Amino acid sequence: MLQQAQSLLDSLVALRREVHRHPELGFQEQNTARIVAERLNSSGITVRTGVAKTGVVGDLGAGRPCIALRADMDALPIQEENEVPYASEVPGVMHACGHDVNLTCLLGAAQLLAKEFASGQLPGRVRFLFQPSEEGQDEEGLSGGMRMAAEGLTRDVDAVVGLHVWADLPVGAISLRSGTIMARPDKFRLVIKGQEAHGAFPHRGVDAIVLSAQVIQALQTVVSRRLDPTRGKVITIGTIQGGTKENVLAGQVTMTGTIRTFEPDTRETLLQEMERACQVARSLGGDYELTIVPGYLPVVNEPSLTDLVRQTAADLLGENNVREAPMEMGGEDFSYLAQESPGCFFFLGGATPGEPPRLHHHPRFDVDERCLPIGAALLAEIAIRFLRDSGARSMPS
Ligand SMILES: [Zn+2]
Ligand SMILES: [Zn+2]
Repeated sequence: MLQQAQSLLDSLVALRREVHRHPELGFQEQNTARIVAERLNSSGITVRTGVAKTGVVGDLGAGRPCIALRADMDALPIQEENEVPYASEVPGVMHACGHDVNLTCLLGAAQLLAKEFASGQLPGRVRFLFQPSEEGQDEEGLSGGMRMAAEGLTRDVDAVVGLHVWADLPVGAISLRSGTIMARPDKFRLVIKGQEAHGAFPHRGVDAIVLSAQVIQALQTVVSRRLDPTRGKVITIGTIQGGTKENVLAGQVTMTGTIRTFEPDTRETLLQEMERACQVARSLGGDYELTIVPGYLPVVNEPSLTDLVRQTAADLLGENNVREAPMEMGGEDFSYLAQESPGCFFFLGGATPGEPPRLHHHPRFDVDERCLPIGAALLAEIAIRFLRDSGARSMPS
């Protein structure tokens, strides 16, 4: 399978570069969806477009068992700083997370699998999920993966597998873990309320900036002193705004931030403790308003499907190239696609050689494109083994 995929290297590189040059933000992936649909069609795969707004779904084969393979298609609002011939041609928009790579791997897998199915030897069906908007939610609070799940696209499948190219993992390696692999990323908005006054008469008002300084200290103490040190968690305040003039006491400060947790009980304690920490503002004569914006569910890998992925990767890439992933603080809406059937999400090595990793969500993010056929071969081989194994299990003895 890996050899077959290697012969697709040039066409996969060309495809990835075409998508990379024309990045589209979440729920605007019209051109990307067109490319995906054309490619699937040309492999003889039945395609539905306009799924979950701008997503594409393809089915190969029929009936059960069915394994769904998933890739995301959206780019980020980042100005690319790479000086490469395939750099983004859209000002302020860039494939800086590598979803162009993820979707190219899946299109490669579709091509490889179409060939396998043509021989008539494979039982069941492979469903290709090309989802829009992984990076963000629309005005109704839904991301592409949430919409796909809500539209029932994972209801008649028996397993869901997805990969994400990973910039600090070498080409030829993958990493994964059984159980929780990615965090729950919630957002928050915190308004600290004081009372304006002349800056020379601070005792006549309540300084929202000084209150904020106390509240920030208290919030950071939640992580270091109020929660179990063995459990993963993050509180990051990413923006802070307040005040109008150098000699006026600020009446209000607004902060936004992100919270990351892995377990529901840690999350619950963290939210309670955040609320308590904010009360510092009240004890000093001000007030606060804390709003939590719930984020994606954590990604949890089902053990037996993870074993199948691990074994497939070990056979294709060698045991040394299958690494145990740490629990990642990043979030992923793959979790919604894996609610109704077992899911496995893994990281595909894509590090550029001989330099520090070009990290995700950075204007100089990039990958080594030799990872493309590897990702395609892995996804195709995982699907084949899953169908053969579950087909054999459901055969009457
Ligand atoms: Zn991302
Ligand atoms: Zn991503």
